[in-house]
Amino acid sequence: MKVLKFGGTSVANAENISKIINILKAGDQKEKLVVVVSALGGTTDTLLEAGSFAKNGNSGYINSFKTIETRHIETVRALIPVDKQSGVLGGLKKILNELENTLEGISLLRELSIKTHDKIVSFGERLSSYIVFNTLRTQLENVSLKDSREIIITNDDFTQAIVDIETTNSNITSFFKDNISKIVVMPGFVAANKNGETTTLGRGGSDYTAALIASAIDASILEIWTDVSGMYTANPKLVKGAFPIENISYQEAMELSHFGAKVLYPPTIQPVLKKEIPM
Ligand code: ADP
Ligand code: ASP
Ligand code: MG
Repeated sequence: MKVLKFGGTSVANAENISKIINILKAGDQKEKLVVVVSALGGTTDTLLEAGSFAKNGNSGYINSFKTIETRHIETVRALIPVDKQSGVLGGLKKILNELENTLEGISLLRELSIKTHDKIVSFGERLSSYIVFNTLRTQLENVSLKDSREIIITNDDFTQAIVDIETTNSNITSFFKDNISKIVVMPGFVAANKNGETTTLGRGGSDYTAALIASAIDASILEIWTDVSGMYTANPKLVKGAFPIENISYQEAMELSHFGAKVLYPPTIQPVLKKEIPM
């Protein structure tokens, strides 16, 4: 089994999502794939902005919501064949309604707890995984969508939740043992506590979701697709002479990420190191 994670830029619009579908189609059709996706680039920030407006009783939250709504609806329209659009849009609207109601609740109460904050930001990955799954489904057979919140279990540290590795590993293994789909799409970043309440793994946490799955299922490879071609000696967007590092140990990759290379979310390496893979 192979795990592929696509970050915010990779799913930012219909054109990029189509590229992902082509990457998935081009791979070895025999190997099972787990596809972890981030929110459409910038959505998490817009959700946070919406939450903050709503908390302050500022009706600007309605505009932020509308921006998110329009963007996702347009993405569906561009990706899904017309005869299948209404069903997919119906499902999308259900998720969007839940977001709108939650924002309305925050605005009425003028209260935004960290628990509600996580609920709000989870919509980014819930929407993106729904769109990627439905697009794949129109082109390939045997594709399923699994909500990570049903298997990745954390403590109650909303916004930076700590994963209960034992329970999570066992949930992941038993889910994949019984699942016969060729491609399983999952939202990154989101998880749930023991009571089923939505938690998140920290900003950039989709990398970690993918690593948790890859480690638990002993994947043959974990690929992290993003907007730069690998780990560089420095942030290539800021440092002109930066170049991609051809080979890097897990230890060095972890250090680089801890020192600010956001190309990899720091805890991502942990599940691998815990397994004591030879370096
Ligand atoms: P994604 O949304 O796909 O998770 P991120 O924005 O989180 O992508 O991470 C990719 C970004 O990390 C790159 O666009 C780059 O600007 C930045 N970055 C910072 N340091 C490094 C580094 N050492 N190597 C590669 N990218 C880096
Ligand atoms: N969407 C989340 C964020 O923007 C998680 C991720 O992209 O990894 O932080
Ligand atoms: Mg990232």
